[in-house]
Amino acid sequence: MATIVVVEDERELAGLIQRGLEQDGHQVRVAGDGPGGVELIERTNPDLAVLDVMLPGFDGLEVTRRVRQDRQTPIIMLTARSTELDKVLGLELGADDYLTKPFSMRELQARVNAILRRVERIRDQSRSRHDEEVIELPDLRIDVGSHEVISRGESVHLTATEFGLLRLLAGNPGRVFSREFLLEEVWGRDAVVFDRTVDTHIQRLRKKLGGAGSPGERIETVWGVGYKYARPG
Ligand code: CA
Repeated sequence: MATIVVVEDERELAGLIQRGLEQDGHQVRVAGDGPGGVELIERTNPDLAVLDVMLPGFDGLEVTRRVRQDRQTPIIMLTARSTELDKVLGLELGADDYLTKPFSMRELQARVNAILRRVERIRDQSRSRHDEEVIELPDLRIDVGSHEVISRGESVHLTATEFGLLRLLAGNPGRVFSREFLLEEVWGRDAVVFDRTVDTHIQRLRKKLGGAGSPGERIETVWGVGYKYARPG
């Protein structure tokens, strides 16, 4: 059972989402505008947040921006049109998944549960097998147990998904990973994802790790295949 915050101003839809997620055994709290959403997320520290883009006060993108300043709450963004989705993807704010309205409750439930399983799996992997594991590379230090990432001396806040990607890539410098492999390892076999999912997360990861000459630049695209973390030196 997870705690989920839903921020949606259409009352009827918010109620439907709430009931649908409660059917899956989750505890759901609802806010109807941007400021209320940020307040609710900060107060309750949920396992996941479902955010509508268009909200009174300020929009779901601003909610994401504010929330992500100090926490890594997984976020599913609800968009009204595909043009809106393009804008959201372009901003690379770090939602973990996106759903275009109208969507079926079954689809939302599947996405929510896929993300919750993914976060849980990444946590488990960190706890069990790699409690003591620290990946040390020039300019990059990844403490797998504590989820701490230091890039060029600066602490970097990564979402669970970004952390999973970086641990695989930087933990195996020089090895090329296909998108399919990354999807299966990081998102899980049963995840529902877009073709561009891996790419948008990699872009964001690069940005967070810093600009030119930084570890972010060492995450290289291998055309037609996937990605690798270039061997330093
Ligand atoms: Ca709305």
